[in-house]
Order: sequence, then structure tokens, then C-alpha cells
Amino acid sequence: MPQRPIRNIIIVGGGTAGWLSACLLASHCKTEQGRGGTVTLIESPSIPTIGVGEGTWPTMRQSLKRIGLTETDFLRATTAGLKQGSRFIGWADGSADDHYDHPFSPPLDAHGFDPFALWCAMGAEQRPAFADFHHVQARLCAAGFGPKTPLQADYEGHLNYGYHLDAGAFASLLCQHGTTNLGIRHLRDDVLDVGLDEDGAIGHLICQQSGRVDGDFFVDCTGFSARLIGTALGVPFRDCNHILFADRAIAVQKPHATADAPLSCQTHATAQKAGWIWDIALKERRGLGHVYASDFLSDDEAQKILLEHAGMKEAEATPRLLKIKSGYRQSLWQKNCVAIGLSAGFFEPLEASALMLAELSAQALCALLPLDHGDLAIASRRYNQRFAHFWPAILKFLKLHYILSRRTEPFWLANRDAQSWPDDLAELLALWRDQPPLPDHLGAENEVFSYLSYRYVLYGMGFAAPRNPPRGQGAPARWQQMLDGLMGRMESTLPRHRDLINHVHRHGFQAI
Ligand SMILES: Cc1cc2nc3c(=O)[nH]c(=O)nc-3n(C[C@H](O)[C@H](O)[C@H](O)COP(=O)(O)OP(=O)(O)OC[C@H]3O[C@@H](n4cnc5c(N)ncnc54)[C@H](O)[C@@H]3O)c2cc1C
Repeated sequence: MPQRPIRNIIIVGGGTAGWLSACLLASHCKTEQGRGGTVTLIESPSIPTIGVGEGTWPTMRQSLKRIGLTETDFLRATTAGLKQGSRFIGWADGSADDHYDHPFSPPLDAHGFDPFALWCAMGAEQRPAFADFHHVQARLCAAGFGPKTPLQADYEGHLNYGYHLDAGAFASLLCQHGTTNLGIRHLRDDVLDVGLDEDGAIGHLICQQSGRVDGDFFVDCTGFSARLIGTALGVPFRDCNHILFADRAIAVQKPHATADAPLSCQTHATAQKAGWIWDIALKERRGLGHVYASDFLSDDEAQKILLEHAGMKEAEATPRLLKIKSGYRQSLWQKNCVAIGLSAGFFEPLEASALMLAELSAQALCALLPLDHGDLAIASRRYNQRFAHFWPAILKFLKLHYILSRRTEPFWLANRDAQSWPDDLAELLALWRDQPPLPDHLGAENEVFSYLSYRYVLYGMGFAAPRNPPRGQGAPARWQQMLDGLMGRMESTLPRHRDLINHVHRHGFQAI
């Protein structure tokens, strides 16, 4: 029999991280293998959510399925588009045709071909773009195709995909679904104080309207304020601004010119003199944002660059300036509290990894949360061990995008100063001069960015092919023919992204 059971889970914060965690925990509690218990979410009526965070990973499909939302309901409510990866423009040297792709689908290898070996064997001048020689997804995106047909089941596709969504609408949908279907108790209240037990764990919260709220376990989803993990429990923040220099973002929204405007299926990340601009497409509008380092660029100039890029006049835009802090908590599970979302940490959204990490965190919490306080130390140790890999792994992968650049503005030169590189990045680059990124080079970190993602970025940015490449059979021309054949079949199967989204809004995912 548990001595001090953990039944009553309290989540503080009603942004995307809070509602995603609440829905995943509540649906886990309800399953047969689940642990039982109740989930309460407390959300301030006066502190706004961050309201950005619009690109997801393919992992989101599993999360939505797990909590029992249909893909049609999700796409309609969040006016989402589908995302098949990212296109990086101007990162290598800023020249007119400088771009590369990082699609969500891993490189193909079929019929005994090893395309990487064939790609390496070609002379540097003859090599096609790395992504184009390893998959057709980037070419399909460029041609405007979606990753699935309307006849495919929810969350299934011919190609791997995530979403571009409206963050506010997503949180509202999760709130409505979680409270109606998953039994989540919702309190709109401000947490004013946090009461600690004699052992330093959280015992209760003091809320403005509800007074004292007791709980057994607490999830901090209070965003950058980190009200529980930071203020109450005093877990230090590991600042990473000396590695990732961006500390500001300005975001704007731009409606599509017409209701039938083509919808891009990739995030476009365009390098700028002191940062980069994201551009994503939802059903009704584009979301754009300039991520930059204030040491190298003023807010006014950053806004001017963004509006010019978006083709918007100042009068028609409502820019939002956001201050961002790169870094993460030294411990993510402390006593009876886990931090998920921005309270746990944040890195600039170059690979849109924040929501993925929130999903992963909530799932790990479901798997580890014990029935009794007595077992918290074991669970927290395992959780912290696991996530201690992920944050530095993401940091390293993001920094890689900057250090391979040949751009010459001061921001980019500062990024190339090895003093600002995370620990083993220089070592890995040395390794990759001889051999390509391999699973053994990354170990547990592979769980977030695999060696294949490293290859997409490394060779997309123009890093030299390895001196000791794998040997492969077959002729590059034959492989190219196979890719072209696949491309043709996909083109005749897949709908345009815009048509797919319009279809879902009219008919849902079902036979026409
Ligand atoms: C510029 C930018 C771009 C981004 N782009 C992406 C992206 O493309 N993809 C991606 O995955 N992520 C992205 N992110 C990250 C993403 O926005 C967040 O991870 C996500 O929105 C989750 O935020 P959150 O729920 O942790 O915090 P918030 O949205 O800030 O929510 C905090 C919640 O806590 C509540 N709260 C705070 N204090 C109290 C209190 N005392 N009492 C009660 N309630 C309280 C607030 O009311 C609010 O409901 C981006 C972030 C930024 C800054």
C-alpha cells in the first residue's frame, strides 16, 4: 500500500505546454495501464501565453492520436497547414541561389543502392543538392504538394509530416478537449505563492480566488517565469546565450493575398545579417518572425528588415517584440515538480524543437511518475538523466547551423569563433572530415537529432564529403532515374497542399 500516494496532479500554466501535458497525463491516467488519479490545470486569467510556437515535429501526430483528437478536428480548429521540413535560405554564404533543405523524411535507401556512397563518389561539381539526391520530399514541397491524400487515415501519410498551427487556437482546442473528454479540472486563477513541505517539496499553492490548493505532484508550465521550478524551488538556470546569441524575436502575421493562394509545406528560415527570419504558412495567413541578437542589431532595424522581407508596410503590421533567453534548468524534475515548456528552458526556434520536447517530457512523466512519494527520487533521477542529454544535444545541433556558414557579417564571424562552440562540436567536425555522421558519434542524443539530420545540415551547408566515404554499388544516374520515377508517382498521387487543406475543411479526411 502506498504510504503517501500521488493521486492529485496539478499543472500550473495554460499555454501549449500546459494543455499538451495535461491532456497527455489525463489520457494516460484514464487508460487501463494508466495510474489513475486526477489532473487539475490552473491558468492565470491575466498573464497571457506567449502565443507563438507554430511549427511542430511529426511527433505531434502521435501525441494528438494518443489524446483522442481527430486530425480533421485538429486541422480545422487550429487552421493548420502541414509541415514537411525546413528550407534554409542564405545560410551558407548569402548568395542568390544559396539554399538547402532539411526534410522530415530520412534519406531513402532502396534496391541495394546506398545513395550517400553514390553522392560522395561524384565529383564536388557534379553533386546534386544533398536532400534532392536522398529523397524526393524537398522537391515535392517546392512544387507545392502535400504529404498525404484526403483518403488516407488520420495521421497517416505518404511522407513524414508535422504541422504549422495557430498556437492560441491550439491551446484553446486542447482546453476544450481536455475538460470535456479527458476529465481535466480547469481553474482560472493566479498562483500567488507556493507552500513547501519540511523536506523542500511543494505542498500546496496559494491562489488569488481559490485560496489554498493542495496537490501531490506539480507540473510547472508557467512559461519563462518558471514560478515553481525557479522561484519556489530555486533550481538554477543554465544560460546559453554565449553559444546562441539571439535574444530577441519580432513576430508578425500576414493574411494570404487570396483564399486559394498556394500554401508552402516547409518552414522557410532565411538568414539575415544578425539572425534569421521564419516564414510559415497556415490556412488563412503566414506567420513570420525575425530572430536576432540585440548585440548586433537594434530592434528598429530588426523590425524594418522583417517588414521588408514580409512585403508589409508598418501601418498594416502589428509586430510583437519578444525577449528570449537561451538556456535550460539544471534539473528538470526537482522533488515533486517537473518543468515542461518554457519554464524548463528555451532555444531559438530554428528547428522548432520546443513543442517536441514538451511532448517528450510529458510522455516521460507518464512513464515514470510513481504511485508514491517514496519512489520520487528514483523517477526524478532517471528523468533528469534522460533529459540531461537532450538540451545540450539540441544546443549543439542548432549551433552547427551557424558555424558552417561562410557569411562575413560580424554576427556570423562571432558564431565561427570556436570559443562560442559547445563542448564537443569541434571534435565532431574533425571526425566528420574523415567519415560521415554515424549513430555511434552521437549516442543517446540520437533520440532528438539523428545522424541523418546532421548529414542534411552538414552537406546542405557545403561541408566537404568525407575523405573515407562508404563504397556503394550502382550508378548515380540509375539512382537518379529511380528518384525521378518516384517523384512522378508521387506527383500523380498527392494533392497540392492548398487543395488538401481546403478539402479537409470542407469534407474532412474521408472518401470524396
Ligand atoms: C519567438 C518564438 C518562436 C517559437 N517558435 C516555436 C516553434 O516554431 N515551434 C515550437 O515547438 N516552439 C516554438 N517556440 C516555443 C513555444 O512557443 C513554447 O514552447 C510553447 O508555446 C509553450 O509555451 P509555454 O506553455 O511553456 O508558456 P506560455 O505560453 O508562456 O504559457 C505560460 C502559462 O502560464 C501561466 N502562468 C504564468 N504564471 C502564472 C501564475 N503565477 N499563476 C497561474 N498561471 C500562470 C500563463 O497564464 C500561461 O497560461 C517559440 C518560442 C518563441 C519565443
